[in-house]
Amino acid sequence: GPESKKLLERQRRVDSSAVAYPKVVPIAIEEAKGATIRDVDGNTFLDFFAGIGVLNVGHSNPYVMEAVQEQTEKVAHTIDFPTEARLDLIEALNDIAPGALPDNNRVIFGGPTGSDAIEGTIKLAKYNTGGDGLIAFRGAYHGGSAGALSLTAGKKYKEDYAPMLPNVHHVPYPFAHEQGLDPQEASDRALANVRELLEDPYSGFANPAGIWVEPIQGEGGIVTPPEGFLPGLKEIAENNDIPLIVDEIQTGFGRTGEWFASDHYDVTPDAMPMAKAIGGIGLPLSGTMYHEDLDTWEAGGHVGTYRGNAPAMVGGVRAIEYIRDNDLLAHAREVGSYIRDRLRESAGVNERLVDVRGRGLFIGAEFADSEDQTGKELVKDIQEDCYKRGVLVWSAGRRGNVLRLIPPLVLTQEQATAGMDIICEAIEQHAP
Ligand code: PMP
Repeated sequence: GPESKKLLERQRRVDSSAVAYPKVVPIAIEEAKGATIRDVDGNTFLDFFAGIGVLNVGHSNPYVMEAVQEQTEKVAHTIDFPTEARLDLIEALNDIAPGALPDNNRVIFGGPTGSDAIEGTIKLAKYNTGGDGLIAFRGAYHGGSAGALSLTAGKKYKEDYAPMLPNVHHVPYPFAHEQGLDPQEASDRALANVRELLEDPYSGFANPAGIWVEPIQGEGGIVTPPEGFLPGLKEIAENNDIPLIVDEIQTGFGRTGEWFASDHYDVTPDAMPMAKAIGGIGLPLSGTMYHEDLDTWEAGGHVGTYRGNAPAMVGGVRAIEYIRDNDLLAHAREVGSYIRDRLRESAGVNERLVDVRGRGLFIGAEFADSEDQTGKELVKDIQEDCYKRGVLVWSAGRRGNVLRLIPPLVLTQEQATAGMDIICEAIEQHAP
């Protein structure tokens, strides 16, 4: 619309050329509530992106907002001083932490971004092991700051910024569909690679500090690993006396239909970086829960200014309460399986939709290349069609060929149906 155009034009003149999103979905946002966004021209959109999986309890969730506003009036910035907000959030995180973490964990809050939390885990792992060797996976995304970028796999993110941290190794993530393997076989092979790297004296890898893994790869294309993979990885980490760092930045806080994706696989991370949805309604905060055995830092051993944003912390507490009180984990599982069913029906109409993946409301639909169009171009076309009909969807995947559906967990069944009618129509219209 004309008002969006005006603001986009204004942005184009002053904002960084790196800003990407409005180039694909050219709207300027006026306001957002729950699972809908209204642009400055008064058009409303169903939001199947949730600010990259941040707005799990919905845009401007009133239950969260109320407490955030109250807290903002009292105090906002507190660094590391104790506040009720901070301690309440730590306790709330303890209540939902996966596996055995709640019994013996510690939390360190990071700066506002996921990358900050990842940087903290690199320091934590190095400090505790004395090593500097970092193991991560192909297809991984862990952030854009120097250390996190070193763990990120995609060439497009890092090729212009060499050198990366030394002694970082990327091993294959089990990706049964892409590898054309049975899931068990994919998992076994991936684990064998890690084991060999760590345990074969001739692998050329020395001084390991830790293993970083996404429990379900996000940017890499919503890649759901086979059942035994994470427990197997945990065992290897244990045998080699290094921590397993499970990056729950995109998968946390109910996104996958459990509090954390680790819950699906019965694995207890040694350290678990969190960000995105942790601040409830998009307030910037990150944190890492880690096992008390790793709690060896001296006071001041890892510092940072933005580690006590009380409104974000209150927002986090309220968001956890809201998810629990409204049974949003079960809701995410139900609506998620409805969405996957609809996508599978569309796969029957458009054979280029070759794989439907994910758990809860963390969903990917992969499209294959054809002779005259790549899967990436097709996903862009579908995205554009959806946007024109009032649904915002995003892409993912190493080759950009995965349609990513990660709506707020508060998406109602009616909204899911309305959204999927449009998304499936767009997919089916692009049948070859
Ligand atoms: N880890 C994962 C799994 C992510 O998905 C992201 C962001 N997409 C990050 C880390 C980095 O978070 P941020 O962009 O807040 O630095």
